[in-house]
Parts: sequence; structure tokens; C-alpha cells
Amino acid sequence: MLKVYNTLGKEKQEFVPLQPKKIGMYVCGPTVYGPSHIGHARTYIAFDIIRRYLEFSGFEVKYVVNLTDIHDDMIKRAKEQGITIFELADKNIALFFKDLDALGIKKADVYPRVTEHIKEIVEFVSDLEKKGLAYETDDGVYFDISKFKDYGKLSGIKIKEQKTGTRVETDKYEKDKAQDFALWKKPKAEDEPSWDSHWGKGRPGWHIECSVMNSKHLGEQLDIHGGAVDLIFPHHENEIAQSEARSVKKPFVKYWLHSGFLNVEGQKMSKSLGNFIEIPDLLKKHDARAFRFFVAGLHYKSRIDFSEKTMEKVDRTLEKWDLFIERLLDFKGGTENPDVKKLVDSTREEVVTAMNDDFMLPNAWAALQKMQTAVNKQIDSGEFGEGNAKQVLDLLKELDQFLKVFKFEKETQEISKELQDLIKQREKFRAEKNWSESDRIRDELAKQGILIDDTPSGTKWKKA
Ligand code: AMP
Ligand code: ZN
Repeated sequence: MLKVYNTLGKEKQEFVPLQPKKIGMYVCGPTVYGPSHIGHARTYIAFDIIRRYLEFSGFEVKYVVNLTDIHDDMIKRAKEQGITIFELADKNIALFFKDLDALGIKKADVYPRVTEHIKEIVEFVSDLEKKGLAYETDDGVYFDISKFKDYGKLSGIKIKEQKTGTRVETDKYEKDKAQDFALWKKPKAEDEPSWDSHWGKGRPGWHIECSVMNSKHLGEQLDIHGGAVDLIFPHHENEIAQSEARSVKKPFVKYWLHSGFLNVEGQKMSKSLGNFIEIPDLLKKHDARAFRFFVAGLHYKSRIDFSEKTMEKVDRTLEKWDLFIERLLDFKGGTENPDVKKLVDSTREEVVTAMNDDFMLPNAWAALQKMQTAVNKQIDSGEFGEGNAKQVLDLLKELDQFLKVFKFEKETQEISKELQDLIKQREKFRAEKNWSESDRIRDELAKQGILIDDTPSGTKWKKA
């Protein structure tokens, strides 16, 4: 039985979708005014693992991630670059998709763009206005939060303590201040991108897009709505207000899942600190698989602290897994050990139990790590056969359907016959414990660009 922590209700709850076996899942997507950063990468990897695990568990998931292509920041950045918001969006969306691919993130079923849903947004806001929950002013149309009695139920922020009737029209909000928010914004400048409506020219506010796009693509009720913790208030609180005020179907979202933030060296990423790491820059330094492995090692709600030092550790652990898998792929002959099947089955069970407990990845990895250690011992002591190697590999392949971190093909690197002979010669010296000769050959190989690594599972080499 799968349990998930629901921000609405603040407890772990049994996961029962609205329709048996079918899940509608929506995660707030990026504002595409620049390349995505490693905070986005964390959130989208975390939800990718959740989505893939739900599919692995036999659910059919329809996954929707929106692209915010109209926003104060979009307008500002397009102006700075002398291009339209559409050109800016196209450029950054292409980059975003490339990054997702590199990080092993499965494409969503739909990536709706705000500017392609203006008609639906106007209709939605009109419905709210007709119901008396929205009002027009000189600069736009606002949602009246005092009219929605459940306001605050997700975040716990109470409007009673706030001055109601105060409005916020920008896309930036104070984190703890409940205010009427803009659903439709009238242009402040002539050249501001705008669309026609019965309130005159304008453009949507930020929150309305998600209510409109998730109801359009997933229906008026969703099973899962996700995003990082920063979105609980006001964005998701406002989404609930808009959607539940309009529809009779409640709750709008059955399970709210929020992922933890990624910080860099203990600090929040920000332009002023200059510690923003965009995904293309991360990938210049690190293997995308290593970053995914880093995120996949932690619970989705935990706060991640990214640092070069941590990545070094992650690289080493991943390398151990790579060597372990290579060792299994290379394994020939041996004597079959019936205990391995038992170990594989109990490991699978532990991983599934961990994942069913609100996707508790650290516990899943503890079980996998334990299996790696046990199998290495069995191989070293000669209690292992080729069939056993296949059993372990099959389990890892099965779990990699949602982890997507392992590498099952060996890299074939060509080196000259002369270098191959030198490596063999060195192995012979090592077997004879002739360390001075084996070190001499190691240095010689290094000069020729071949790095040697003596691991518990034998000597490995790679090109420098
Ligand atoms: P944004 O582009 O800021 O609108 O964010 C798009 C998605 O990424 C949202 O789900 C955010 O909550 C999430 N996000 C933004 N910054 C971070 C971060 N530093 N760590 C984790 N998730 C983030
Ligand atoms: Zn959203």
C-alpha cells in the first residue's frame, strides 16, 4: 500500500486515486525567461522518480507540466534582449527540453503554454466574476479572497489576521501576506504583450494559468499536484481558491506533494550572490547521471545542499555502482549460490516497502547498498555463479525503470595492443607482489594517458 505525505492535512495518507489505476498529475513548470537552473533540475528529477514509480506500480499516469511564457520577468528579459516574449520562450523551452533529456527525465504528456490558453483563462475569470468572487479595477481583475471561506487551508495562513481588500498586482508576492491577487492585468505600457477581452486589453496574472491548464488537461479534479515548497503560498493556495470557487467538484486536488529546495553551499541561489548554477553549466563539470544519482539518493522533501565536495562523494559512490555492475556483466562461470535469489527478493521487497512509504529513497538505497556489499563478498569468496550475476542484474534493471541511474553497457574504449600488453604485464607484477615494477608501469601508462584504478573487483583503466 502506497502512502504519501499530503501538504493538505499535513500527514501521510493512503494513496487512493480518484479513478482506479489512473492518475492525473500536474507539476508547476518553469518560467522560461532564462535557462533552467539546478533547483529546477532537482524538482523535476524528484517528480520524475515519483511519476516513474507510480507507473512501475501499475498506474497509468497522465503527467502535465506547464510552461509559464508570460510573466513580469518574461517581459523584462525580452525587452533587455530586444526580442519578443515568444522568441525568448522558444529559445528557453528548447534548452529546457534538452536539459530534461540529459537528466533522464521522461517527457510529460503535455507541456501547455499560457499564451496558448488565453481564451480559456478569460472564460475562467469570467466565471469567477459571475459568481461574485472577482472584481474589476482600473488596472485589472482581482480575486476577492474574503469570499472564499477555505482560504488558507493549504498553507495555514489565515486571512482574518490580514487586512483584506489589499491587492497585489505584480507576479512577486510577500510570502506570508494574504491579499487579493490579479487574475487579469491591464497593460501598464503600450508595448506590453496583451490580448483582447471584455475588460479590454490585458494578460493573465500568474496563478490563474495553473488552475486553467490543469482543469483543461486533467479535468476539474486532480490526483496529484506538485511543485517545490516555495509554491505552497501564495501560488498553490490561490490555485485552490480559484478552482474550488469555480467548480462544484471538490477537492480540486487530492494529494499536494511539495519537494524541498536546493541550495548552493548552504545558501539560497540568487542573482545577487552570483551562485546561480544553470543546468548547462552543471553539465560541463559533472555527468548528468551523477546529478540524478545525487537527487535520487535523497527524499524528495529534504532540502538539498549542492556543493562540489558533495558531488565528489556522489561521483565516487556512483563509480562503485558502475564497477559493481561491470563486475556482474563480466562474470562468467562460477558456482551458483541459492542464497543470492533470496537476497535479491528481500532487497526488492525492501526497496518497494521504502518507496511505498512516501518514496523514501534513502531507505531504498540502504537496502541496495547492503546487497552490493553482500554480493561483492560472495563473489570474492567464490560462492557465486553466472546465473546469480543475472539475478542481481535483473533486479537492478527492474528498479532502474524509475531510478534511471545505472549504466548497463560497458564503455568500449579502444587502446593500442602495446598499451593492452603493458596493462597485462602490470597485472602479472601485481600478482607477484612486485610493487616497484607495477608502479613503474602505472607511471608509464599515465604518461601515455591511461589511468589505472585497482579496485576490490580488479584493475580497471580509463583514458585520462
Ligand atoms: P520557477 O521557474 O521559479 O517558476 O520554478 C519552476 C519550478 O521549479 C517550481 O516547481 C519551483 O517550485 C521549482 N524551483 C524553483 N527554484 C527551486 C530550487 N532552488 N530548488 C528546488 N525547486 C525549485
Ligand atoms: Zn503553478
